Amino acid sequence: MTLETQLQARLAERQAAQLYRQRATVSAKCGMAQEVAGHPLINFCSNDYLGLSSHPSLIRAAQHVLDSFGFGSGASHLVSGHSHFHHQLEQALAHATQRPRALLFSTGYMANLALVTALAPRSGAVIGDKLNHASLVDAGQLASAQNPKTEFLRYKHCQLKDLERLLNKVPAGALVVTDGVFSMDGNIAPLADLAALCRDYQATLAVDDAHGFGCLGDQGGGSVLAAGLSVDDVPVYMGTLGKAVGGFGAFVAGSESLIEALIQFARPYVYTTALPPAIAAGNLASLELLQHDVSFIATLNANIAYFRQRAEALLASDGSVTLLPSQTAIQPVILASETRVLAVAAALRSAGYWVGAIRPPTVPAGTARLRITLSAAHTKRQIDGLLSALTMALKAEAGAGV
Ligand code: PMP
Repeated sequence: MTLETQLQARLAERQAAQLYRQRATVSAKCGMAQEVAGHPLINFCSNDYLGLSSHPSLIRAAQHVLDSFGFGSGASHLVSGHSHFHHQLEQALAHATQRPRALLFSTGYMANLALVTALAPRSGAVIGDKLNHASLVDAGQLASAQNPKTEFLRYKHCQLKDLERLLNKVPAGALVVTDGVFSMDGNIAPLADLAALCRDYQATLAVDDAHGFGCLGDQGGGSVLAAGLSVDDVPVYMGTLGKAVGGFGAFVAGSESLIEALIQFARPYVYTTALPPAIAAGNLASLELLQHDVSFIATLNANIAYFRQRAEALLASDGSVTLLPSQTAIQPVILASETRVLAVAAALRSAGYWVGAIRPPTVPAGTARLRITLSAAHTKRQIDGLLSALTMALKAEAGAGV
């Protein structure tokens, strides 16, 4: 069979299972109001939680560096790509997370590959939550493929007892990895309990706070600081810059030796081109805003509270949907079947609201869901509009017997 025939068969299979993914091309953007294929849509599926991606301060800072310093970084950090903009951003990230040092990565995906492969015990285990982000799953698999003495194990979602069962089976010194805020459920990991358990078993806890950094904690320092934990409790902290920060890139923050070890041993750090310096400058401007203006986070929290109060009231009487008990910007509504989630998302889109229809393999089979993401840039009117469109879409879909 030729590659072409094999690919066509696999694509047809995915289409038949209602799991085919398609991209929408955004042609105009202003806050949460966007235009896709000529249709205006209110975006309830981006991770721009604070609405900073089009903030004038970020744009100005990046533009200034583009004019004075050029576009590309030209090389990897270890060759000649590490500019003082990257350096300043690393210092600001260390400050924001209250850690001795931080190291920039091009993406969160790469930061996770880097930290897990570089820090995995040479003879021992990497243990991750079953609902961790795909990049942490891939990272664990890569670590065990690179070294057959490294095992990759997974514990039941947020179940400390199951983690303890695994910790009992492996040598001391395991690397335990968890999302801080779970990307498809919106819940926050039980970080204080995880840290205590890791301490008991001399394991190292690493937290991927892609969805917590910028949103949680005073001045957006993230889920670890919000839980009152320090670098001793959670030695490895990873955050991303493409979500609440409104920019692009990612970082790991921790001790001096952690960062030096990543610089020496983390292949996804060493063998890739540094972010363009203008991106570093835009990220830095965002952190400066967050240091001085807590109103972005306060508005996001007010929108989360408003959405939940209204959504709980509206959806309570509909036994066929479940609003997960999330206190974060990620508000999933479980509809179970792929067909149903696609039908409801399409109806919302016709009504002018853009919501993610999340299906397996991103989430477990039978838990297809609408992933509604809230932002400080949403107005209450937009939230009201979404919820009344959702109520109508659910009614219409129940009537059609999909
Ligand atoms: N971790 C989590 C929990 C994420 O949700 C994501 C992005 N969806 C990543 C890591 C990867 O980050 P990036 O998009 O910067 O590669």
